[in-house]
Amino acid sequence: MSSPQQDRSFATRCVHGAGEPDAVTGAVVPPISLSSTFAQDAVGRQRAFEYSRSGNPTRAALERHLASLEGAVHGFAFASGLAAEDAVLRLLAPGDTVLLSDDAYGGTFRLARQVHAAAGLVVRTTRLSDTDAVARDWPEGTRLLWAETPTNPWLRIADIASLAELAHERGALLAVDNTFATPALQQPLALGADIVVHSTTKYLGGHSDVVGGFVATNDDDVAARVGFLQNAAGAVPGPFDCYLVHRGCRTLHLRMERHSANAEAIATMLSDHAAVAEVLWPGLPDHPGHDVAARQMSAFGGMVSLRLAGGVDAALRLCESTEVFTLAESLGAVESLIEHPGRMTHASVAGSENEVPDDLVRLSVGIEAVDDLVADLAHALDRC
Ligand SMILES: *Cc1c(COP(=O)(O)O)cnc(C)c1O
Repeated sequence: MSSPQQDRSFATRCVHGAGEPDAVTGAVVPPISLSSTFAQDAVGRQRAFEYSRSGNPTRAALERHLASLEGAVHGFAFASGLAAEDAVLRLLAPGDTVLLSDDAYGGTFRLARQVHAAAGLVVRTTRLSDTDAVARDWPEGTRLLWAETPTNPWLRIADIASLAELAHERGALLAVDNTFATPALQQPLALGADIVVHSTTKYLGGHSDVVGGFVATNDDDVAARVGFLQNAAGAVPGPFDCYLVHRGCRTLHLRMERHSANAEAIATMLSDHAAVAEVLWPGLPDHPGHDVAARQMSAFGGMVSLRLAGGVDAALRLCESTEVFTLAESLGAVESLIEHPGRMTHASVAGSENEVPDDLVRLSVGIEAVDDLVADLAHALDRC
């Protein structure tokens, strides 16, 4: 991993991530290469690309860029975060166990339990924020430990370095869904994880205008298999989508800094507001995962959850009373969003052990002027 890219600071890699300007035209931005097929010099003698499912210049530029940001040798772009997760779960054989966080992304549960379990995968869950408990209750046959940190919408923190050590001791791989933190704030491979997955739909794209996924790894065997699956199953992103994610990543470092700073101001205001019973943000010193987060993250991110003293009525009223925060699902873009997980993003887990209480509201704090965001929430809370 001694490419000159890796010697440069993170911010420089964000801006210059795809490498040198185009060799032929000098284009500073990787061109959107729409061609589905590429001329060959002789029968069976192809140039760099052959057919765009197998490889495409715009996708290759994005893959180099994102791999560089995660400090990875290998990177693979997918059509969505779930397509990326699907490729990683396919590393396992029938009868193997995947151990998921008990508050993993809902789509991850659905994929594991309703798609891969039918093909023989054993799916178990645990509370990953307690490494000792994970070690104690470790299911026999676990080949993959799947962590998400911070989690959604609880913002619980898992200790990546200690989970990596545990997984390797027990003969398993550790995959980390790094969607919430992004490589700007947290680099799981450097902490010992084997695989990083992303929904690039969120902070990496950053503008709510593209759906995509990504897998990064330094493990050559994992890379060979994921690369094979990317082509064999074919859940690849189109060139225009790759361009959008690449464009988003060029400002990732600045956006994550502002998301985190705005979230801090909001978490502080919420902590002092009488209508708020509890604030969940790992940057608060009394958050149970604060010390681990401070060790493995460079800032605490833009996702904040809160529980309302006035229960579900207050939570619903808050969601419908903001003006700068837009009531919508998804997260991680420049604009601030507010949502009610119990009735929106997490409605499908109602009645299960993963049910989200109905007094909880989730914020995706954007990069607007912090005073406008604080005033908007404070004003809406006064009506709760
Ligand atoms: C959105 C999300 C996913 C799924 O990604 P898609 O791009 O919607 O398929 C996976 N993990 C996390 C943490 C997410 O927020």
